[in-house]
Amino acid sequence: MDLPMGLQLASPDVVLDGVDQRLMNYVAHLGMVHRLLFGKDLVITSGKEGKHVQNSFHKLGRAVDARTEDKDPEEQLVFMTVVSFSAPAQGVAVFDERSQSDPKHVHFELHGD
Ligand SMILES: [Zn+2]
Repeated sequence: MDLPMGLQLASPDVVLDGVDQRLMNYVAHLGMVHRLLFGKDLVITSGKEGKHVQNSFHKLGRAVDARTEDKDPEEQLVFMTVVSFSAPAQGVAVFDERSQSDPKHVHFELHGD
């Protein structure tokens, strides 16, 4: 798959082939907004590859993770505001998985049929 403008993969292990097109459309738009806001690509840290035993949405091609640790706290606040505001209308749920022990990413998953 050609990577949409504004997106980068964290590593060659990240698989976006087979990710639901509606979720890809959302993430592609988000990548462009990310470039506009922060001057750099949105980095996808996980897609459909099989590392997520406890979260089947990844295996189903209905979830992607995006990097947060490449943004400073103020930028992260802007980013989380943008995704919280924009994702629900696209059927995408946002899980803020940042924590003290793992501040690395946020999880997006596609809900509905
Ligand atoms: Zn995830």
